Amino acid sequence: MSEGPDTRSCIVVGAGISGLLAASELQRAGWDVTVLDEASGVGGRMATRRLGEGSFDHGAQFFTVRSERFANLVDDWLAAGVAAEWTRGFADAQGRQNEDGHPRYRGARGMASIPEYISRGLGVRTGERVVRVDAHESGWEVACDSGLRVEGDVLVIAAPVPRALDLASSGSYTLPDEARRRLEAISYDPCLALMALLDGPSGVPEPGGIQIKDEPLDWVCDNQRKGISEAPGVTIHAGPRWSRSHFEDDEAEITRRLISFASDQLGTDLASKVLTISLARWPYSWVTNSHPEPCLIASEDPPLLFCGDAFGQPKVEGAALSGLAAADHLLGRDT
Ligand SMILES: Cc1cc2nc3c(=O)[nH]c(=O)nc-3n(C[C@H](O)[C@H](O)[C@H](O)COP(=O)(O)OP(=O)(O)OC[C@H]3O[C@@H](n4cnc5c(N)ncnc54)[C@H](O)[C@@H]3O)c2cc1C
Repeated sequence: MSEGPDTRSCIVVGAGISGLLAASELQRAGWDVTVLDEASGVGGRMATRRLGEGSFDHGAQFFTVRSERFANLVDDWLAAGVAAEWTRGFADAQGRQNEDGHPRYRGARGMASIPEYISRGLGVRTGERVVRVDAHESGWEVACDSGLRVEGDVLVIAAPVPRALDLASSGSYTLPDEARRRLEAISYDPCLALMALLDGPSGVPEPGGIQIKDEPLDWVCDNQRKGISEAPGVTIHAGPRWSRSHFEDDEAEITRRLISFASDQLGTDLASKVLTISLARWPYSWVTNSHPEPCLIASEDPPLLFCGDAFGQPKVEGAALSGLAAADHLLGRDT
């Protein structure tokens, strides 16, 4: 498992911002780290998709900065040219500008620019769905549906918690009752996210995003106005209640209704401008019930930690700090 007496090895399941930052801290400290993700690229919910000439952020849309530790990371991303300040406030549901002076950041070419940058130089294997986890006397073995098996001294699970719980019980390992109880208390809202490439302007006012925070719509964004897309195209997020009640509906029906809601919101006929669409169904978008600590240490022997946006603070910043907290614990840097 480990290469030498001082080298510890770690398997990280999940290449979202949380898992990637945990991995990068451990690797910087000399650990041998393997990150596994089932998706074809890194970033998890910091997701950017191409549709024709358009680029669309369809998961996280922007992030804010509250803590000094996260601010230092963001400064690095800004200096590397992978993040940019987008705006200091969005239009509200009535289209009124709502500046409050706090910067909102985006990825330079979409949100995925940031996890792609963090993952450089890390041992990340995408397209690997972890389906089984077993504990041995001296560590962990995970198996992927491709047949790949990876061993490590330490296991960090940085997947959305319902998925993480399934994994933790997929093999011979028995999760301690207390950890299971805490993980089972965590919940998320779903989100239906529609991307529509347009052949004309969307009608979304400056700075390119409307924070509606209501039902049936939560958010409408023009990715061209946001500065990440050559072609005009909108991302439409349904509200949590509408997403939950229509999550399994037929794609054509969801598309028709979301385009109609967004047309009403923008006062324009979006349907006549749509060139092509893509729908993302996020079963876990925002955390509705979180764990108070920035990560959960389920076992010390062999070490098993859970991290992500469900631990401590939510959103991109919370997920980032959670990954760092998991690495801090493993490196003995707990404060
Ligand atoms: C629609 C939507 C809008 C959002 N808007 C915002 C916003 O505007 N601002 C904000 O700050 N936050 C926003 N968020 C939340 C933000 O995206 C998340 O809090 C953050 O990205 C979570 O990061 P994470 O690393 O914890 O998890 P994730 O990004 O979910 O990463 C987990 C990774 O685990 C992988 N995985 C899961 N199971 C397995 C398995 N069995 N094997 C291998 N890999 C596995 C997944 O593929 C994924 O890549 C939004 C989220 C969504 C979905």
